[in-house]
Amino acid sequence: MDIPQLMKVLSNEVNLQILSILKSGSFNPRELARILQRDETDISRRLRMLERLGLVEGKWVRVRKKNIRVYSLKVGEVKISFEPGEVIIKTSEDKSYEVPLLESKIPKVETFFGRETEIKTLLSSKKPVIVIYGIAGIGKTALAAKVFEDAFWYQMSEVDSFDYFVWQIGLFLNTLDYSLLLEYLRSGGREERDIFELILEGVENTKAKIVVDDVHKCSDEKILKLLSFLALRIRKGRLVLISRERLHLGASENILYFQLKGLSLKDAYTLLRAKGIYLDASDFVEVYSLTKGHPLALTLFAEAYKENQKIKTENFFNFLFSEVYQHLTPDEKLMVQIISLFDEPLEYDAIKAMYRKKNSFVVLYSLLNKGIVEKRGEVYFLHDLLKGFAREVREIDEREYYLRYLDYLLKKRTAKNFLTAFRYAVKLGDEEKIKSLVELRVRKFKRVVQDFPDAYMKILFQIKNNPYAKKELGHIYFQKGFFKKALKLWLEVKGDVDGIHKADVVSSLADVYMELNNFKEAEKYLKELESIAERSDDPEIKFWYYVELTKFYFFMEKLEDSLKSSFKELEIIREMEPYPELESLVLLHIGDIYTRIGKFEEGIKYYLQSLEIARAYNLTFMEHTSYMELTKGYYQLENYNKVVEYANRAVDYFLKVRNYRRAVDALSYRCVAHIGLRNLDSAESDAEEMIRIAQSTNYPLGWAGYIFLGAVKELNGEDGKEYFEIGKERLKEYTWLYDAVLEELGKVFDVSKITAKP
Ligand code: ADP
Repeated sequence: MDIPQLMKVLSNEVNLQILSILKSGSFNPRELARILQRDETDISRRLRMLERLGLVEGKWVRVRKKNIRVYSLKVGEVKISFEPGEVIIKTSEDKSYEVPLLESKIPKVETFFGRETEIKTLLSSKKPVIVIYGIAGIGKTALAAKVFEDAFWYQMSEVDSFDYFVWQIGLFLNTLDYSLLLEYLRSGGREERDIFELILEGVENTKAKIVVDDVHKCSDEKILKLLSFLALRIRKGRLVLISRERLHLGASENILYFQLKGLSLKDAYTLLRAKGIYLDASDFVEVYSLTKGHPLALTLFAEAYKENQKIKTENFFNFLFSEVYQHLTPDEKLMVQIISLFDEPLEYDAIKAMYRKKNSFVVLYSLLNKGIVEKRGEVYFLHDLLKGFAREVREIDEREYYLRYLDYLLKKRTAKNFLTAFRYAVKLGDEEKIKSLVELRVRKFKRVVQDFPDAYMKILFQIKNNPYAKKELGHIYFQKGFFKKALKLWLEVKGDVDGIHKADVVSSLADVYMELNNFKEAEKYLKELESIAERSDDPEIKFWYYVELTKFYFFMEKLEDSLKSSFKELEIIREMEPYPELESLVLLHIGDIYTRIGKFEEGIKYYLQSLEIARAYNLTFMEHTSYMELTKGYYQLENYNKVVEYANRAVDYFLKVRNYRRAVDALSYRCVAHIGLRNLDSAESDAEEMIRIAQSTNYPLGWAGYIFLGAVKELNGEDGKEYFEIGKERLKEYTWLYDAVLEELGKVFDVSKITAKP
């Protein structure tokens, strides 16, 4: 084994993230990239490297005549032992090791002074929730990083959004072996209450430690609500909130409010000494009383003092910084100004891309040494206090740098970078850029609308009169089920957009009219889309056309036409850049159409193909939707053993991701199948589960559990009439459903046995 190479690979955070995710299953690079919100080619490259080192194992899986690479973890542990004259590295299958966490950017505290009392107080506190507050630059972050060095660190910013925050927590909990939240989010679950409870459960079960820094910057109501929710309930886990203001989380004996003041006289003295400053007692006392032990002020003082021993007292902070700033080299000044333009911390590569001179590394490190620029994880930033001053003395053209940053971000091809780039395009008010970014979203970042609707919406709202933004807002509303709102926006912008955007609007209009059961209007837009698609050679547009056409024919009960159109979809999508999620969806639709025609075996064939793709790419939600469809298909064929086999998987999964509607669907098929197979105990527990779900969600099909329970009782020789009656009563507003339930049950049980009873 190439030991130095192995060490290098293991010292990289992203590689460790990959290994940790692979612990929860096998993945294709694409889905892994989605989970980590990183570039797919980058992930593939890393996987190949990990494979060469024997840490992961890649297998070719053949799916629909294509070969797909799927990776899984090969070793669970790496052990390094130092022996005289050699270092031995052993790997084993034993699975227990910890990894640094995702997105967790624990600040590096290289030189940390004093704070003994504070550290003791924090370490000895038994309270699960700690709020550290105090003025800017007083050392809250540094202290928390020192005390909670093994926590998951989340740096809050002004532009943070709930969905992104939650996704990160989901990833984090996943690394602690709590996968439910991530599964829930990947399945498209978005219920606030579910998310709150899953996070709480995850934090409690894993005793997770989470630090959220700069909570005062957060303007997202939902995040704040979540934090208060957690603060009042966490007992076994740990939540540390850092803020400038004392947060109001409600009174609870579980919360420790801790106000941080300046460094003690002794610690301040040590800090200055470490920076190479020696003062006599009276000078030191003066500096201390001016700075009140404020560590950032002391650091600046030390820098300024090196250049100029006479320190003025008025407007101390401004003075200090301008004093330090004056003595920076022109290159250093330029870099400080560039960094100060950005709200978020920057990666070294981003700084390099904007700064564009050869000495970027040297300049950055000199600024780091002077304590002006700080480092957190792999990113660099100016303390907020300095950022303000740096902006005041700005000499550079911000537009130019924002454009450079935008270009840099777009090369990275991840949803997160896409969103950030979009934010800067909005800041620049650059309409052309906005338009091209929207196109990029439509083509390459389709999932942004599902995965990060809040984050995207926040950005779009800032330019809510821009037609392209309106169009995108329409997609978010549509996704959330607000069809009328979406319709209104799309109608408004129809005449104002061109190119692929026009096709997008027209196809969306056809779609939304179908959702609203207005087939006349839908047809009108479908015709318009047809003529656009005919004139265009853009496969994306052609694909949309056939998607809508398939749907339209399906609603019109023209099933053969619908089938033909869906095969066109399949043909086009296979020619485009691979998009497994869509391909698997199209296959499911084909299966559905066959089933509707009554060709169940054909239907099953396509469901199985869809399943194959979903499994190869670890698309968990699609995988289980396929199980659900297979359940229904085999049910039609009255192959109840197969029904039970597939429903088992569907039920477990949908219960797990709290999609109770689908869970009840699957349960009902399984329950009838169990009755058909005379597995009466299993049927009984399925019926009871259905009733439980109905009681908490009021989902009508759940009440059919009573009817099934009645049948089970009868088959057991008991009287089922009473249960049957309850079911009938609960379903009295849903007569069609009641009739359907009886019809299905009738296939495996003589219903008249109950209904005929007095
Ligand atoms: P806050 O989070 O309160 O705004 P920071 O923790 O970012 O403040 O501290 C401001 C600056 O002072 C940082 O550069 C930090 O590294 C430095 N600093 C804070 N506390 C100490 C300490 N105890 N010893 C040395 N440097 C410190």
